[in-house]
Amino acid sequence: MDAREQRMAQNETLFREVNERLETVAHRLGPDVPYEFLCECANADCTFRVALPTGVYESVRADPRQFVVLPLHYTPEVEELAVKEDTYWIVRKTGEAGEYVEHLDPRDR
Ligand SMILES: [Zn+2]
Repeated sequence: MDAREQRMAQNETLFREVNERLETVAHRLGPDVPYEFLCECANADCTFRVALPTGVYESVRADPRQFVVLPLHYTPEVEELAVKEDTYWIVRKTGEAGEYVEHLDPRDR
């Protein structure tokens, strides 16, 4: 994994940390209510939000290598596309980037 790939993985884990906190709030609304999470894509400048049901977000989080992004906010060099919906995509980190983000999973501490 080169420095650029590492930086992209770090960006995504940073957004994930924020979303973990948002999810605590969203959880009170119930699993079927869509909530606006931050896009967890590799672009540090991306400030878009992505709406998805809390229950779906929870299932994404069950795999430490998965991230939720807006459609097209996808970096094929470091991840593969796992789920494609109209309003959100779920990506999964592969290779060294996958191991790296797994290590940074906030739920693993
Ligand atoms: Zn994005």
